[in-house]
Amino acid sequence: MAYLLKVDGVVQGVGFRPFVYRIAYKYEIRGYVKNLGDAGVEIFVEGRKENVDKFLNSLKNEAPPLAKVENLKIEEVNSRGYKDFRIEKSSMGNGAGDSIIPPDVAICEDCLHELFDPKDRRYLYPFIVCTNCGPRFSIIESLPYDRENTSMRDFPMCELCREEYEDPLNRRYHAEPTCCEKCGPRYELYTKDGRRVEEDPLKTTARLIDEGKIIAIKGIGGFHIACDATNEEVVRELRNRLGREQQPFAIMVKDLDTIKNIAYVNPEEEVELKSYRRPITLLRKKGKFLAESVAPGLHTVGIMLPYAGVHYILFHYSSSPAYVMTSANYPDMPMVKDNEKIWGMIDAVDYILLHNRRIVNRIDDSVVRFVDGKRAIIRRSRGFVPLPIEMPFSYNGIALGAELMNSISLVKKRKIYLSQYIGNTSKIDVMDFLQEAIERFNKILKMKDFDLIIVDSHPLYNTSNFGRKMAKEIDVEVLEVQHHYAHIATLLLENKVKEIVGIAVDGVGYGSDGKIWGGEIIYLGKDGVRRYSHITYYPLPGGDLASYYPIRSLAGLLSLEYGEDEIRELLYKFTPGAISSLKYGEREFDIILQQIAKRINVSETSSTGRFLDAISSLLGVCYRRTYEGEPAMKLESFAL
Ligand SMILES: [Zn+2]
Ligand SMILES: [Zn+2]
Repeated sequence: MAYLLKVDGVVQGVGFRPFVYRIAYKYEIRGYVKNLGDAGVEIFVEGRKENVDKFLNSLKNEAPPLAKVENLKIEEVNSRGYKDFRIEKSSMGNGAGDSIIPPDVAICEDCLHELFDPKDRRYLYPFIVCTNCGPRFSIIESLPYDRENTSMRDFPMCELCREEYEDPLNRRYHAEPTCCEKCGPRYELYTKDGRRVEEDPLKTTARLIDEGKIIAIKGIGGFHIACDATNEEVVRELRNRLGREQQPFAIMVKDLDTIKNIAYVNPEEEVELKSYRRPITLLRKKGKFLAESVAPGLHTVGIMLPYAGVHYILFHYSSSPAYVMTSANYPDMPMVKDNEKIWGMIDAVDYILLHNRRIVNRIDDSVVRFVDGKRAIIRRSRGFVPLPIEMPFSYNGIALGAELMNSISLVKKRKIYLSQYIGNTSKIDVMDFLQEAIERFNKILKMKDFDLIIVDSHPLYNTSNFGRKMAKEIDVEVLEVQHHYAHIATLLLENKVKEIVGIAVDGVGYGSDGKIWGGEIIYLGKDGVRRYSHITYYPLPGGDLASYYPIRSLAGLLSLEYGEDEIRELLYKFTPGAISSLKYGEREFDIILQQIAKRINVSETSSTGRFLDAISSLLGVCYRRTYEGEPAMKLESFAL
């Protein structure tokens, strides 16, 4: 009895082939298993019927933890007389590309144990990995997922590593990034003036952080800038150097017990913190453990656990239990990932800790938050990307997203592949990154033809213009989607329903009537799309300035009910601080009132974001926005 099996899903780079080998060995199955060029796996099996049945049963039910079998095609074929079971070389193939490589996975328990075992040959070696853990998406250039298609090809395996790699019963069997002190990448520590520090780089870095230094650290998906999160002085210094007045920093805390001294953690949050994704999780602060400047004016702080060998080793040597670990970038720029580029940030740091493995795909830490025990993803990046999302209909396309906090997605047949976090696409550097991401995903997914290019209907977004241009070049239809219709459409998918009435609570999006939308009740379903209702339009004086100075929204909002003199009187009485915090103080305030009265440079909006800004300013919580969402976030913290 013989079968040819085709397995789709997350089945490459997750120890799937060794698993198949082991069960074949167990049930005396003959044949082969191999990776296909499209990220699927092909298995040929022959053997006694009851054994083949047992094999199939194990295949379906006992796959390794990171593997995800989405589709299993079984075809009965003629026996070919194989003598044994083999793991064959990957075929380049021209398959349909329906599968995808796994995301980057935090170091596993087994590797962690070896990392701190003085008898292990990878004792304190930060690049330790196995088939169950380690970098994946961040190091891959193209499929199939083999060492030569990743940045690990720069590091030929030593004899011992190769033996493990070739032994089907070893945990490192075909662990593509496997390596050791002898053959793998290594860390080096540099001073500001480019001198290499002779002492142990990780041990020294830990000591320097304890002493209050600020250090750029190369990790899995890019560089972080790190310092001691319990040292107020150094955290404030970091703010000065980065030009980040108020925006909260994410921190990495050495273990869960320590997190519980800093923040409240419920069971769902605990599971997520410890998951292989290790996202930054927004938690409610507790006690006075951390430097106040880590997340000033907020009741929450973004915390993650260590996820790479280097992090564990640093905490092993360090006396500080918590580091600021913020992406290495100046505001609104992409995180630095290349060794040459980090020197461009030398003014912000005292030392640079880098390694010599290339990061192919930049990938920021993911950010999640729990609301009523349910996970909400704020930034979907490391640990999630490039896993696809299933969709009930089929086409091939690219969606380019909006302007801020952008990510793009490629749609192939019934799957949506969201890119990693791209950022603020009003910046040229970020648009370059966006193009890189499209090219990379294109290569991995082997996309050839597109049916559709989808853009935000905003007339001026860089992303929308890029999409329109691209569509013209390859002669494909463009679909322009209203910003909030798109938001609500995602809810259809998330809730697996065909019809929905959704509420979009948002900052700004270009409305189909040319006004600025952001507080919308929208129907989406078999009758198409309809805007049922929205926050009453109110005037927003001064265009973009309104998002930086919440008093502008407040004055606009009040003008729905009050005249110019009444607004002046009210605001002088209730929130004089907001007036004096304007760049030109009272004079500017007068101009704002005239702008509203005469409708000069005033747009109409239904934005919830600006509405919350207005309240934040009225209550004296926040007069000036220094980062996206600040007035509303501080208002929430103030209310709780
Ligand atoms: Zn491992
Ligand atoms: Zn080695």
